[in-house]
Amino acid sequence: MTSTETSVSVKPSRLFDTYVRMPVSMVRGDGPWLFDDQGHRYLDALSGIAVCSLGHAHPRLAEVIADQAATLLHTANIVHIPQQEALATALCEISGLDRAFIANSGAEAIECALKLARRHAHERGIARPAVLVASDSFHGRTLAALSASGNAAIQAGFGPLVDGFVRVPFGDLPAAVSAFESNPDIVAVLVEPIQGEGGVRPAPEGYLAGLRSACDRHQALLMLDEIQTGMARTGHWFAFQHIPGLMPDVMTVAKALGNGVPIGACLAREEVARLLPAGSHGTTFGGNPLACRVGLEVINIMREQDIPARAARLGHLLQGRLRSGLADIPGVVDIRGQGLMVGIELAEPVPELKDRAMERGLIINITRGNTIRLLPPLIIDDDQVARIADIVIDLVKTRFQA
Ligand SMILES: *Cc1c(COP(=O)(O)O)cnc(C)c1O
Repeated sequence: MTSTETSVSVKPSRLFDTYVRMPVSMVRGDGPWLFDDQGHRYLDALSGIAVCSLGHAHPRLAEVIADQAATLLHTANIVHIPQQEALATALCEISGLDRAFIANSGAEAIECALKLARRHAHERGIARPAVLVASDSFHGRTLAALSASGNAAIQAGFGPLVDGFVRVPFGDLPAAVSAFESNPDIVAVLVEPIQGEGGVRPAPEGYLAGLRSACDRHQALLMLDEIQTGMARTGHWFAFQHIPGLMPDVMTVAKALGNGVPIGACLAREEVARLLPAGSHGTTFGGNPLACRVGLEVINIMREQDIPARAARLGHLLQGRLRSGLADIPGVVDIRGQGLMVGIELAEPVPELKDRAMERGLIINITRGNTIRLLPPLIIDDDQVARIADIVIDLVKTRFQA
């Protein structure tokens, strides 16, 4: 590992210093495995942050990418794009929503959702609308998305922030209800069903259903950010589907939709989608044949192999093994999550644990300083789940029993 450090630190980088990068360069992937330029192999328990849910170098995705590249990459949205139509249809089938706007990233999907909220407000004659958002939320890095996010670090130095957000504590339904009652300008709620960057925090029982009723009472849109939780990660296509009868008005998707090819989508109910008629919103790259063909193939593969059920089963296995292995460790505060989105909250900040994991050939992530976040590819097998759990258990034991 020391030789890797020297090889990447020789030349001064020409890149912005926006990331603290681990001293390793990956050159190849295969299913749940990554290989660095020194020939070391790593089990990927992060999937490029919930992106490569079908693993790396998936042969069917490689094939459609090559085929589409050799056929047609881009036309812009001035003509019909059959791959985009097909992807929108598939997204509506798996979500129950009616329409899709295809973008290039999560933050762009969020921008589309926020623009829908603004249009919804203006239709109702509300001149200075507000969107209710949660503490510790994460919605992306564009100006409106970071303004919606409940994270001081990502907002610092970027003021003035975009106006029109009212923040309440995540999971606190009475706080949301009273915000609605005291502020008639609230026209939408934007919330993650399980906060990802915020520490893998599932919404408490009854929270999303309660927000749904509050939105109905106040003619507001329920907008769910499923960018991290969506696409089978939690054991259903979308995390809101764990709650019987719940349906959002708007939902954002990205990350695993392209398995690494950049794509995002904002889905909406028919009446809501109509708030953005021709000319009111757009994107040059969004919905291009390549990204849409990949998104569609991702859904096809996930359907054929019932990946949502697989994520549910493996999630139980992973959480179960972590729970028994970490049962008597005093530094473990909580183990939580749904499907293959799992967090282990520890009593102290443990930023170094991701480096210790890497030395053991495992890629993990730490959120909020003290929470190990596991987002492995959904195609891992039982043995790989056990291997992830065993290494993590050992790292935590070593850290808290030393
Ligand atoms: C990653 C993420 C985003 C931002 O997506 P980008 O593609 O990075 O713009 C927004 N919301 C949630 C919940 C995310 O996890």
